[in-house]
Amino acid sequence: MKKSNIAIDGPAGAGKSTVAKRLANQLGYIYIDTGAMYRALTLQGLNAKMDLHDQEKLNEYLKQHPIQLTVEDGLQKVYIDGLDVTEEIRSLEVSKNVSLVAAHPLVRKTMLQLQQDLARNGHVVMDGRDIGTHVLPDAGLKIFLNASIKERAKRRYEELIEKGYKGTLEELIDDISLRDKKDQERTVAPLKQADDAILIDTSTLSIQEVVEKILLYLREQIGK
Ligand code: C5P
Repeated sequence: MKKSNIAIDGPAGAGKSTVAKRLANQLGYIYIDTGAMYRALTLQGLNAKMDLHDQEKLNEYLKQHPIQLTVEDGLQKVYIDGLDVTEEIRSLEVSKNVSLVAAHPLVRKTMLQLQQDLARNGHVVMDGRDIGTHVLPDAGLKIFLNASIKERAKRRYEELIEKGYKGTLEELIDDISLRDKKDQERTVAPLKQADDAILIDTSTLSIQEVVEKILLYLREQIGK
């Protein structure tokens, strides 16, 4: 794996994807959203009324239906089996079920392979939960983004309200806490800060401030 890769991990709503996207843009790197890959598989499982506890079936599906991450007119797009699922994978139903799908060891094994293949040529910014610990253990820079649960839920709430969300902030706090708990407690590749990752608390920082901090760390790293 390449040293030019950057791993960004952290819990839900810590700002990973927004920061990673902007960072990749500024560096001219490729951005890879691994959460979108788990979400795409979950969506298809739900649509096909699959038993989401059945890891063999989900894994078989994943192997036969390629996931593609593309950029079109500057916008990230997610396809599975040629189908544009960019919007649908963000639904609350997918969010509620994705941690179950992502906990399956067989599914994770296939995802690991796919994600490592995507990073083989270097110069990627990859975000997720296990990038620094498992997917890109020798990434040149590892960042772990965190923020208070209240702040993370508030950010999600503001995003969702724009899309017509009718729930409360408290419900979102519960959903996000539960998802983090499941992601932290699974046996294979749980959500965890890598020993050599740099922790950034984004609670009181703007996106650009976080990006600038990471760019500083990157310069330091290159200087070493
Ligand atoms: O990043 P996002 O919130 O879209 O991720 C959705 C879910 O996908 C996470 O809650 C987690 O269950 C799973 N995931 C994972 N490993 C990754 C990325 C995401 O288990 N590297």
